[in-house]
Formats: sequence, C-alpha cells, structure tokens
Amino acid sequence: MTEYKEEDFLMLSGIQHFVFCKRQWALIEIEEQWADNLRTIEGNILHQRAHEGPTLESRGQLLISREMRVFSAKLGISGICDVVEFHRCTQQEGISLFQKEGFYRVVPVEYKKGEPKISDADRLQLVAQAVCLEEMLCTDIPYGYLYYGATRHREKVEITQEFRQKLENVCAQMHDLFQRRHTPMVKRTKACNACSLKEICLPKLLKRPSVHDYIRRQTGEEEP
Ligand code: SF4
Repeated sequence: MTEYKEEDFLMLSGIQHFVFCKRQWALIEIEEQWADNLRTIEGNILHQRAHEGPTLESRGQLLISREMRVFSAKLGISGICDVVEFHRCTQQEGISLFQKEGFYRVVPVEYKKGEPKISDADRLQLVAQAVCLEEMLCTDIPYGYLYYGATRHREKVEITQEFRQKLENVCAQMHDLFQRRHTPMVKRTKACNACSLKEICLPKLLKRPSVHDYIRRQTGEEEP
C-alpha cells in the first residue's frame, strides 16, 4: 500500500461529514466553507467537556489520554482523539508505554452529542482513530467506544475487517475528490434538513428538475 506524505493528509474528522454527505465534506474541505447550527454548537460543547481535565490522567489500572494527536500515513489522514484509554493488561494483550510500568491495551473513545445513529458515520470515525493508533503504536485494537451525550451511554464498536475496508474506500474517495478539487452535485436527502451547510449549499436552488417537474411546468399542471 502506498503511503501519503504529511502535506497530503486530510482531516480525520472529515470522515463523518463525508459519510453524511460527500458534498458537505467537499464544501468544508475543498471550498473551506463552514456554518454552525444548533447541532454543531452542542457537539462542540460536548467535545470541550471531553477535553476538560489533565491531558494524561491515571485512575488505578487505567490511564486516560485526552486530545491525543493521531495520523495514518497509509490512509493519509490525521486528527485528534477525544479520549484514548490505556487499560492495564498482560504482555500478550498490550504494549509498553514510556515511563509506565506494565502493559496496556489501547481503547479509543469518541464523544458525540445526540443519540446513536443508524448510519456508520460515527463508527467509521472511531475506526479511523483505531487504525491511526494501531499504525502509531504498533498494536492491534479490536474495539473502541462511542459515548453519546443524549443517552449518556457508551456504544461498543468492534473494529471489524468490514469497517476497515469501508474506511479504506472512504479515504481513497476523499483523496480522489480532493486531488481533483471536485465538489459533488447536490443530492437532496432527508439529511439536508439537519445540515449546517444548507444555506451555503442551497439544495433547493441547485436541485436539477426531474422530467416529471419539467412536464408539469410545461403543461401548467399545479404542484401536488
Ligand atoms: S444541504 Fe444536503 S446536499 Fe447540501 S451539503 Fe447539506 S446534506 Fe449535502
């Protein structure tokens, strides 16, 4: 597998945008557009809370690292993990850490506002964090957690081969669009209602009229 140069790395956090809507991702990453709405502001507050406290905390058999910078040259992405937990374990299960006794299993935890989603957007972002940590720390990470603010509950996410393959495809598509500086056309879905970029994207204006719309306009038929 070819490795990306650091200057070509894309933002890991963009994976959730890309899975939500490729156009939204391109507007942010390629056209550098951004707009907050209530959802993004609430999400930012939750992330700030996750980052409160010392960057490295020790709780018995557990070490908690906050705001850890991660990257993967294989996927060409970099970003920040909200929380990475290091659980004390046996030598076979874990890695050693600088100036720390024993061995530790690595578990990423990503904080999200709202509730668990049907789409894999959040899961793929967590999988990306796990893959970055595996590459940086030379270890295997079989699972991580998504913490949802609305339910105050952790969802365990297995880092399966299927998710890893999906992630590779997503990253390859992101790099392809970025290299071509191509912003996909509007594809109007229910997600547009919750999109923080809908005023910038203008999905209604850019929507291509269907043949049915065209005939209706030509015949003077009223909209249903
Ligand atoms: S408004 Fe819809 S099409 Fe436009 S960026 Fe948002 S989700 Fe994508």
